[in-house]
Amino acid sequence: MKLKASTLLRLKQNDLLISRDLNLVQFPKELEAIYKDQYRSGAAHEFRYRAPIILGLYSYLSLGTYQALPTAVRAEWAAFYGWVGIIITIAWLLAFIPTMNKWFDHYVGFGSMGAVALTFTLINVLDYGQNNVLFHAAMMYAVVIIYGFVGMRFYTAMIAGWCGGLIGIAVSTWLDTSIDWTFLNRTYTFSSFLGMALAYAIDRQHRENYLQNCMIELNRLELMRQAQQLSILSHQDPLTGLANRRYLDEVLEIEWNRAMRHQTPITIMMIDIDYFKLYNDSLGHLQGDQCLKRISILLSSISSRSDDLAARYGGEEFLLLFAMTNQDQALIQAQRLMELVRNIGIIHPRSNVSKHVTVSVGVATTIPHLNDNLSEFIAQADRALYIAKSNGRNQYHLTTTYHETHEVM
Ligand code: GH3
Ligand code: MG
Ligand code: MG
Repeated sequence: MKLKASTLLRLKQNDLLISRDLNLVQFPKELEAIYKDQYRSGAAHEFRYRAPIILGLYSYLSLGTYQALPTAVRAEWAAFYGWVGIIITIAWLLAFIPTMNKWFDHYVGFGSMGAVALTFTLINVLDYGQNNVLFHAAMMYAVVIIYGFVGMRFYTAMIAGWCGGLIGIAVSTWLDTSIDWTFLNRTYTFSSFLGMALAYAIDRQHRENYLQNCMIELNRLELMRQAQQLSILSHQDPLTGLANRRYLDEVLEIEWNRAMRHQTPITIMMIDIDYFKLYNDSLGHLQGDQCLKRISILLSSISSRSDDLAARYGGEEFLLLFAMTNQDQALIQAQRLMELVRNIGIIHPRSNVSKHVTVSVGVATTIPHLNDNLSEFIAQADRALYIAKSNGRNQYHLTTTYHETHEVM
């Protein structure tokens, strides 16, 4: 379940709300708006199933009253009381229109108010002697159902219930009928308070469940975030933020197989910082770490395509992977790398080849065939690096294998 409120609440706020602020069955403004939205569509949906039950109860009650009434007044009574059934049916049909969901409070609220007003007025208007007790019973049922089963929030139900009664009083007074206050107090007022208690308990429980669901959702999101973080961390070299050796091995395998399947070229570069031990010895290990980080940023910028990867191979050695990169493109990338290292100009007080930090690079590029082997490909890059070192450092050396091996300087 995706609850919108989960983006709004923190776990602590959620806790606070559950423990303290539910008594007023009203959330803080912003949350209330989100909750209302969700509640309305949920309640409208539920009402599709509840309305037939309410209609069933109503019919059962009506039938009982109808049979108990003297034949002479049955038709008159049914003509009035039938309106309650019409109101329930209209509300039921509206619940099937999704665009009406946002008006659920209104149509159900007004419908309930109308039903209470009608049953209330009928008690006073239709005077069938002792049968009036049946009308009172019917009204009590109507009030309890409206509060407890229609699915309105506490305040809406309360407004609908009491306003319905008030309208009933007003109409009865206007029609000049006598109102039996004592009896009404025992029936209407009593059932209204009972209904209110029901509606309050239901609304409060609903809100508590909502918050608890938010809590579950928040915990789930937090777990997902942590899992994501862990997955990133398990792929990353902590010092440089580049891919670690484990992740490199995984990606290399995938890209190697892909290149083999599609017969596309693949290039790797083994990079080693020149005279790095001397760098550390002269400037200290911490400064050495800084140097590794700066070189790493530079390597990331070179391998920025989605299928490329920059990894720390170990110590001051790095490996760049370029998918779908042939010899010509590999040469361009290697030259670019040398140029960027030159431009970054990290002072190296004791290098034998430059005033700045330099790197030696072994480049290997191939289109892998079935008999080819990934470790052999890496070993080729390693050998190329060794040659670059032997040839005086601060340079790259490229080997290509396209069936027959030839080496290019
Ligand atoms: P060459 O030009 O032949 O590569 O010489 P080099 O000094 O770079 O090579 P060598 O393998 O002798 O030294 C590598 C040094 O890298 C030794 C080690 O202290 C340093 N090193 C490895 N990992 C780290 C690290 O995480 N931080 C720092 N500061 N230094 C590191
Ligand atoms: Mg080394
Ligand atoms: Mg080195």
